[in-house]
Amino acid sequence: MIDINILLDLFKSYEPDKDANLIERAYDYAKNAHESQLRKSEEPYLIHCIETAKTLLELKLDLNSICAGLLHDVVEDTKATHKDLVKEFNRDIANLVEGVTKLERFKFSDPDLYQAENWRKMLLSSAKDIRVILIKLADRLHNMRTINYLPLESRQRIAKETLNLYAPIADRLGMFTIKSDLEDISFQILDEEIYLAILKKLDENASQRDECLQTMESILRQKLDKYEGTLTFTHRPKHIYSIYQKMLRQNKTVEEIEDVMALRIIADTISSCYVILGEVHASFKPVPGSFTDYIAQPKINMYQSLHTTVYGPEDNIYEIQVRTDEMHKRCEYGIAAHWKYKMGTSPSHKDKELEAKLSWIAETLTWLKDLKNPGEFLDSLKTELRVHQIFIFTPRREVKALAEGATPIDFAYAIHTEVGNRAIGAKVNNKMVKLNFELKNGDTCEIVTRKNAKPNKDWLAFVKTARARSKIRRVLSGPRKG
Ligand code: MN
Repeated sequence: MIDINILLDLFKSYEPDKDANLIERAYDYAKNAHESQLRKSEEPYLIHCIETAKTLLELKLDLNSICAGLLHDVVEDTKATHKDLVKEFNRDIANLVEGVTKLERFKFSDPDLYQAENWRKMLLSSAKDIRVILIKLADRLHNMRTINYLPLESRQRIAKETLNLYAPIADRLGMFTIKSDLEDISFQILDEEIYLAILKKLDENASQRDECLQTMESILRQKLDKYEGTLTFTHRPKHIYSIYQKMLRQNKTVEEIEDVMALRIIADTISSCYVILGEVHASFKPVPGSFTDYIAQPKINMYQSLHTTVYGPEDNIYEIQVRTDEMHKRCEYGIAAHWKYKMGTSPSHKDKELEAKLSWIAETLTWLKDLKNPGEFLDSLKTELRVHQIFIFTPRREVKALAEGATPIDFAYAIHTEVGNRAIGAKVNNKMVKLNFELKNGDTCEIVTRKNAKPNKDWLAFVKTARARSKIRRVLSGPRKG
């Protein structure tokens, strides 16, 4: 079991001057609160809290997030309340824990991809603070790593949820390490046969692949002899799930997977990256069409790197990535690295922090403006900007996104025009409400309809969505002529 000192050491490694006493207090609090609880693995529950906090420490998050990571299940699973946490710690920590607890209550039930997208949006916008999502991802990662203790049926449900909901969110936030871990564990549960076949194939060629990579590395090191900065080479393992997706895209069987050598070079500066790339291309013939410059044109989730594929010694194919250390960190830690970069290193004046946060949002927005289709990522940023949107469930657990202040009539028209036109009443969370009732995020709404019922012109006074308004007007203005 990890003890508290490991957590404290990790924190000191990036915040040497900050008082870490709060982490010790959060640890003791979680220990007492979960005292009698065991995980399904029969380990003390506290281990789960520690592992969650450890992931957050690896992401180098701020002190309050680490404490909230330790405390993330105390409101859900013990007698502790939001008020207790405000008193014992501070409002920020209490709010983070509350945010995670709220997410806990959304039970993802629909594996349908269209619904999955709505769920992802809902999760992101319900969180209010992006750190809530980071804590939730760390929580899920440990749950996945210990999932073997659950019965098969739960394993499959949770794996599906992780693959459709949490892994894409980690991807959107640029957190590739967490994303790949979540994907590989889920994939093994959902399709163990193919998972093991791919794994076996990778193992068979492992030593030969290592040798080839060593050869390539020493050739490139020689060519880059004059280079003065530090160069780090890594032979990066391919993730099983990404190999599987490539198989699907190229319509290939496990036997047909080509053994690809994957090499990554980390350099000091951006210009060095291009120098290295030039040297690679001068020495080995590139595979046509394989070069992509994600440094000049970053991906939507801020990913940056140079990608190329070349025919190396003995005609083996090598996938090579070149990037700077900072790009590499951002790639592993995603949005969290950016956060740290903006928030943590500046002097700890409150103004400075706020300024940094605002400039981060502004920067991201300018960068979004240049994109052709920023819709999805913009939606996730609404969290920061507090552009209000609420998510309402149908009794069958589908989700509809509506403007804040929306009423059952707006909801009815969001489901179907005919449902709106025939609406005569509504139940929210199983209680009858008036048609002008103001829905709240997470409500379940059921519309009562009657055949031959018609919209009422009074509805126009309270509906909030343009869709409902125009549909009502259309019926009120009578059948169209001609
Ligand atoms: Mn948990």
